[in-house]
Order: sequence, then structure tokens, then C-alpha cells
Amino acid sequence: MSDRFDFIVVGGGSAGAVIAARLSEDPGCTVALVEAGGTPPPHEAMPAAVGSLQLDPETDWMYTADPGNAGLGLVGNLMPVPRGKMLGGSSGINYMAYVRGHPGDFDAWAEAGATGWGYDDVLPYFIKSEDLAPSNEISVDQEAHGIGGPLGVSVRSPVIPASRDFVSAAEASGIPRGDYNGRDRGGPAGVASLFQTTTRRGMRSSTYHAFLEGAVEARPNLTIITHALVSRITLQDGPDGPVATGVEYRDRAGKTHRLGADREVIVSAGAVGSPQILMLSGIGPRRELEAVDVECLHELPGVGKNLKDHLHCALFFPAPGIGVPVAEIGVSAGPDALRAPAGPLPADPAEDANLPPELAGLKAEAERRVAQWLETGESLVSSSLYDAVTFFSTGLGDAYSHDAQIGYVPCGYDKGLLGDRLRLDLSTYFENADEALAPDKESMILLANPVLPHSKGEIVLASADPTVAPEIRMNYFSDPHDLPVMVAVMRKALQIVENWPGDTKPGPLNVPPALARKHGYVEGQPPSDALLENMALHYSTTVYHLCSTCRMGTVVDAELRVMGIAGLRVADASVMPNIISGNTNATSIMIGEKAADILRARHSLSKAA
Ligand SMILES: Cc1cc2nc3c(=O)[nH]c(=O)nc-3n(C[C@H](O)[C@H](O)[C@H](O)COP(=O)(O)OP(=O)(O)OC[C@H]3O[C@@H](n4cnc5c(N)ncnc54)[C@H](O)[C@@H]3O)c2cc1C
Repeated sequence: MSDRFDFIVVGGGSAGAVIAARLSEDPGCTVALVEAGGTPPPHEAMPAAVGSLQLDPETDWMYTADPGNAGLGLVGNLMPVPRGKMLGGSSGINYMAYVRGHPGDFDAWAEAGATGWGYDDVLPYFIKSEDLAPSNEISVDQEAHGIGGPLGVSVRSPVIPASRDFVSAAEASGIPRGDYNGRDRGGPAGVASLFQTTTRRGMRSSTYHAFLEGAVEARPNLTIITHALVSRITLQDGPDGPVATGVEYRDRAGKTHRLGADREVIVSAGAVGSPQILMLSGIGPRRELEAVDVECLHELPGVGKNLKDHLHCALFFPAPGIGVPVAEIGVSAGPDALRAPAGPLPADPAEDANLPPELAGLKAEAERRVAQWLETGESLVSSSLYDAVTFFSTGLGDAYSHDAQIGYVPCGYDKGLLGDRLRLDLSTYFENADEALAPDKESMILLANPVLPHSKGEIVLASADPTVAPEIRMNYFSDPHDLPVMVAVMRKALQIVENWPGDTKPGPLNVPPALARKHGYVEGQPPSDALLENMALHYSTTVYHLCSTCRMGTVVDAELRVMGIAGLRVADASVMPNIISGNTNATSIMIGEKAADILRARHSLSKAA
């Protein structure tokens, strides 16, 4: 393998995989994609298996963060921060909601100085990536969507009836139906819909599957190096300041390698990884670098600052006759999902020969369902169960966009997801967690999610050792704007549940018992603002949308060049000038598409026919 390339892309996630794929369309240039993780495991493709990718060091960086003023009811008061560690990055571990944001989000970026990033500028890049499958279940603004791009986008099939009911209930609460990815996301009343998801025929469409897998990864001019932890960007002095010359990485055995870049290095390691790599390379806030014995080669105080994220508070309802039992999802996921220690089948498939008749029947049914999913894409497991959504304005937020989102999950999930992955302290969240989360229980969750928070956190280098995670300080609810908005979104969620259609209604909101006692809550009565605030301070969790830690205008310019350094760009969620009012994967992919176009124009590259 050569150790010199025209371009080196660091991180093969939502943005990086796109950049490597698009640049290598020109057979005349050589591209190296350097990724800390490996190729995704087979179960990554099953949308409902999403939880199993977290807390696995092969696929998840498994960070935790200081939650600031939130997190009082989380285990150890620590916020989990999963990040995908594989080709596809966090698009391989995410819940697959396909959301672009409000047109006003991008216009606000451009007005703040990000020239070329207004809505009309970025829309063609969203369209370019997309391959939207037809569905009668949603309304679609055809001119805003793409067909034939690499990224599969679809509505899950079959639709779970409760998710349709959520959309009806939102409509009855004053939120019209529509295409939330359309050119007009509506006025303050907002929009409600089933989720469009990054799936194709019931399988995850991560940026690995969409942009790299198959013919692209086999291109002779694209070298993909996996299990390679980039430890720094190499710099040398140039006539106008430092110039990026390549990268250094460590392989699995801990051996250090060097790669040279003849044209540019593009850092796409995500909102945690990108600032960490810049700081390890001596680019960042001088005092912080020197505090951990990293020589500051180029002072850039904004690296790691301005961290934004979404925080949502789960409102859990028993919902007999409405919710999907987790046991059903388990059977649909196939026999392997039913094995010990969590499930009834033996851990070792070799022991299946002696199964009693009822377990043999269960196994046969699981085999039938998974075969159907593989053949048709139709299954309970063809989404993460994060299935419907509304966006609207609370009236308390910034007028250029919607400040509120409510996501809908037609099941209650299980202890592994709520307790281990979200770190909710289940002993205080429920009166009786075993009963509330029994596999046959029918429940549902509404996720109250303010989407234009004002609070800002930071990523701080904790060590000069690249294997040591940086400190992630979220500072949630540090700005007084954010808590009243959260309460307003929670109230709207309660209103939606009150407007549930049909004769079968969801049960009462689960109010954690200690908070219920403290606030004198009477079941069936509306909770007070103080109680809702306290629920949010205790049990809100990250929506995993970390961004803006190398933002445009502070760390990079509008062409994504690191300010003051030649031959170095950052392109991923970290460059967003501000968080968008929705889930961040589609925007990260758009950033990858636009970055590739900027590079193509700068270096006169050709593109695939
Ligand atoms: C659990 C979870 C659920 C989510 N759900 C949704 C959702 O439903 N919808 C949605 O729109 N968004 C969702 N998101 C957010 C969305 O996936 C991210 O915003 C998006 O993937 C970020 O893209 P990125 O390119 O910035 O970073 P990533 O996709 O995280 O890519 C960064 C890549 O860089 C690699 N890397 C990092 N450091 C190094 C290093 N030192 N050396 C080499 N490689 C390195 C990583 O392994 C990774 O592959 C979710 C995220 C998570 C974690």
C-alpha cells in the first residue's frame, strides 16, 4: 500500500464516507479513508436491533458526559454519549429518522456568515443523496425529494397502527399533516407525519451501505484503512503559516503509521472526534492544550467550544391495546435475539435439538418472520420503532424555525435500552420497573424534544493520549431559555395523548414516584409546571445530535478550511454554525456532499457519469 494520497479523509461516518465516495469518482485522484472502527457487523442492517450496537466497543465509542443541570435521575448522573465506530459512523448506530431541518435553519446559517449554506444552496445536496421509495402513508413534496441517489429513504412497512393514531392525535391537537422535509415546513402550527427513515426495503441505509459498499469500496483509487485511530494531523511550516501534510494513525496493535497528503486532509471524525484530533495536533485553545502537555502549534480558541445537542424527555404511558409488546419485536428479530441470557432459547444453537415443543414452535415462528423480513423488507423489525413525529413552535423560541419536536415510539422498549443504554435509573423512574417493562406489556413513549436550545457545552482535551476520551461537558439547561421550552413541549405531548383517536385510550402518564410525592401529583390530574420541570431535570436524555464544535465562522470558513492552516478542512456535524431544528444525520450527509463539491471545484476533479 502506498503511503501517499491526494486526499486523506479521517473518519468514515455520515459525512466522511460520502466525501471519500464522491472524491474517488475521479479515477485520476487517490483517496485514503482512515477509520477507527471496522466494517459494520451483520445485525447493524436490522433497524430494530439498533440498541445492540450501543455499549459494544466494536461499534460504539461509548462516551459519557457531564450533563450540566440535567441528568439528576441518570445512573451515576452521567449522560451516555454513544457514537458510531465503524464505516458509516453514527449513521450505522442511529435510529434512522430522516430529517433535514427547517428551511429557516439554513437561512439563519447563511445570515450569520456561512455564505453558500442557505436553504436554496443546500437543498440540491439533500436531493442528490436521496432515493425516496414511494409510500401512500405520507404526503410528499416531490420537488424537494430525490429518487435514484445512493441513500435509501422510506417509510416503514407495515406501518404500526398506533403510529398512524399519533399523527391523527397531533392533527386533532392543531398540527397539520404534511411533508416535514418539504420546501415549506409550515408556520408555527407545524407539521405531523410518520417518519421518513434512512432504510431501503426494511434495512438500514447507513452511509457505508449507501455510499461505499460494493463497487465503490473496490475502486483502485480508494484505499480504506479500518481499525486505524488517527492520533494527529502532521503539520509543517509554509510561507503563510502551517500546512497540513498528512496524518499519523495507530493500528490495532498500537503501531504508529504515517500517511502523506499531496492535496488536502479532510477531518470528518464527528463532533467529538474532530475537535479532539485538531487539539491532539496542536490546533486549539492554547491554555487547554498546554494543560495536557500538547504543544500549541496554532492557537484557535473555538475548537471544541459551542457544543450543541438536543435533549428529550421521555413520557412513558402504559397503552394496552395500542402499544407493541417488546416480546413480539424479539420474535420478529429471529432466533438469535431470543437466546439466553435474556431470552428463552439456549445460548448455544447446538442445544436446540432438545427444545420442548413450545420453544421449538417459538423458534420456528422467529425463523419464519426473519426470513420474511429478509425477503420482503416487511416486518416489525424494519424500523427502530421511532416511527412518527411532529414539529411546531412553542411560541417561546426563535421565530426563524420550529423550536419543538415530539417523536413517537409505539412500544415501551426494555430495561436494556432504558436502563443500560439511556442510563435512566429504573428504580426511581418506575414504581416497579419489572412490571412496567415486562416483555408482554403494551406501552408507548412520546419524546418531548426542544430543538433550538440556547445552552452550549464544550469538548475539552483530557490527555495527549489519543486513546483517552476527551471530556464532554454538555451544560444542558445552563441557559434559562431552555427549561420553559421543555415544559411547553411536554405539555403539548400530553395534549396529543388526550386527543388520541378511537375508543382505546392510552393509560396515565408514568410519573416517577418520588417526584409525584414531592409535587403532590394526583394520577389523572394535569401535572404542575414544577413537576414537569423536575421530570426534565431528572430524566431527559441526549438525542445524540452533538454538533458545532468546529463550527463555521469560528474554526472553519464557509469552504470548511481550518482558519490559518493550509490543506486542512473539517467536514461533518461539527461544522454546523448552529444546531438545526431536527435530527442531524441528513444534514451531516449533506455537509459531506457539499464538501466534496467544494473540493472537486477547487482541485478540478471530474465526477462519475
Ligand atoms: C445512537 C444515535 C442515534 C441517532 N439517531 C439519529 C436519527 O434517528 N436520525 C438522525 O438524523 N440522526 C441521528 N443521530 C445523529 C446522527 O447519526 C449524527 O449527527 C451523524 O451521524 C453525525 O455524522 P458525522 O459525520 O458528524 O459523524 P459520525 O457519523 O459519527 O462519523 C465520525 C466517524 O469518525 C470516526 N472517527 C472518530 N475519531 C476517529 C479517529 N481518531 N480516527 C479515525 N476515525 C475516527 C468514527 O469512528 C466515525 O466512523 C443519532 C446518533 C446516535 C449516536
